[in-house]
Amino acid sequence: MSKEKSECKLHKWIPLLGIDKKKSVPTSLFTCLKCGDLKVGTHTIKISRYRLDMGELPINSVAGIKLMNNPTADLTASGLIMTATVTTNAQGIGAPLYMAANGQLYTANASANTTSPCVALAMETGTGSKKVLVHGVLRVDAWNWTTGPGNASLIYVSTSVGTLTQTQPSATDQVIQAVGWALTADSVYFSPSMMYVTHA
Ligand SMILES: [Zn+2]
Repeated sequence: MSKEKSECKLHKWIPLLGIDKKKSVPTSLFTCLKCGDLKVGTHTIKISRYRLDMGELPINSVAGIKLMNNPTADLTASGLIMTATVTTNAQGIGAPLYMAANGQLYTANASANTTSPCVALAMETGTGSKKVLVHGVLRVDAWNWTTGPGNASLIYVSTSVGTLTQTQPSATDQVIQAVGWALTADSVYFSPSMMYVTHA
């Protein structure tokens, strides 16, 4: 078997055998004769001695979960994702959402603290039972964020319903909540602050 450090370039997969009616039959669990990696089915879950890959996402032995900095396709995310009831969302993927007293998510609006704070970003269009990102990276190619130090890269809930902005709301009673920062022009690290202020 090869060392873990050198990536096995040409796996030689053989199916592991199971017993069915006293006969040995191939299973959908494969092992590589050269490096000892295991995989389930075709490119689904891959297990080597030091990591577990779920599709493109590795889970390392050091208790780290590596997020894709810039998810590989437009309108996709990596991170902590939940399914929740989204009750309003005319803005689509990337819309900031707040939770109302009924436990449902509605599009956030920084105009007042009755429509804040943002706790999730929509990961699907429309309403109903939908996936939302509660922490992680979301890529939307229609975005055009500024990156940089200081507050240059910070992203806030906008006073336009269901949208994000890099301009701090500045009128009386408007909500200033940083919800993340721009990793690139098209991707946001979403880490919503639960501390927010209303403009005096
Ligand atoms: Zn191999």
